[in-house]
Amino acid sequence: MIKVRGLMKSFGKATVLNGIDADIAKGEVVVVIGPSGSGKSTFLRCLNLLETPNGGEIEFEGKRITDKGLNIDVLRQNMGMVFQQFNLFPHKTVLQNISLAPIKVRNTSKSEADKIGMELLRRVGLEEKRDAYPSRLSGGQKQRVAIARALAMRPHVMLFDEPTSALDPEMVGEVLDVMKSLAREGMTMVIVTHEMGFAREVGDRLLFIDGGVIVEQGVPREVLANPRHPRTKEFLSKVL
Ligand code: ADP
Ligand code: MG
Repeated sequence: MIKVRGLMKSFGKATVLNGIDADIAKGEVVVVIGPSGSGKSTFLRCLNLLETPNGGEIEFEGKRITDKGLNIDVLRQNMGMVFQQFNLFPHKTVLQNISLAPIKVRNTSKSEADKIGMELLRRVGLEEKRDAYPSRLSGGQKQRVAIARALAMRPHVMLFDEPTSALDPEMVGEVLDVMKSLAREGMTMVIVTHEMGFAREVGDRLLFIDGGVIVEQGVPREVLANPRHPRTKEFLSKVL
């Protein structure tokens, strides 16, 4: 579904991604781990062109999205993204947050968008919050709304950038549970996370990024139990 070759990204003189190769298959759950500043967010942001790569190629569903003239809007509709900081629209209700993009971008009728929105709210366990504003929600509830909002566009891939890092510990589980159910339903997902238990349990493959390259990858359980590269060992010794 996604094919990355020689991906490069610099900010000024700083090279942040230094030749990333990765393939993500349909239905695969890929977890990305690595030290702070190693390029994990930049990698995800390049996948949906929130950042413009400086080199290399990315294919998504057979189309080379790094070519000029690509319709970025269509690409983004097919790739949902969930951020650490939720990024909900503060002046819209929960249901409006979810139905806005389908109405504006997909020309879905309001009644149809609201119906889909309510189905998604049911799925993330927040039906009763439909008319609440984001400021009245807990962090875990906000993140579940953000996931529902991304799903409303019926994306083919979901990208998650540390979706639980801003949450109080007691709210991490409810968000991971929603992500687990998505994985079970076959959603293709790329997830940057520090939740190693989740990575082990839900990930089909784990990528360890350091210094803008994939240093090591494999089955999460195996990499976590038996890291081969010294940098992976050092990182895991700090976080496990
Ligand atoms: P991670 O998500 O692994 O913590 P990031 O991808 O956010 O790492 O950042 C990698 C490096 O790129 C960091 O040194 C960061 O400061 C730098 N960086 C990220 N985004 C920008 C930007 N928009 N402008 C300049 N530097 C950036
Ligand atoms: Mg990051």
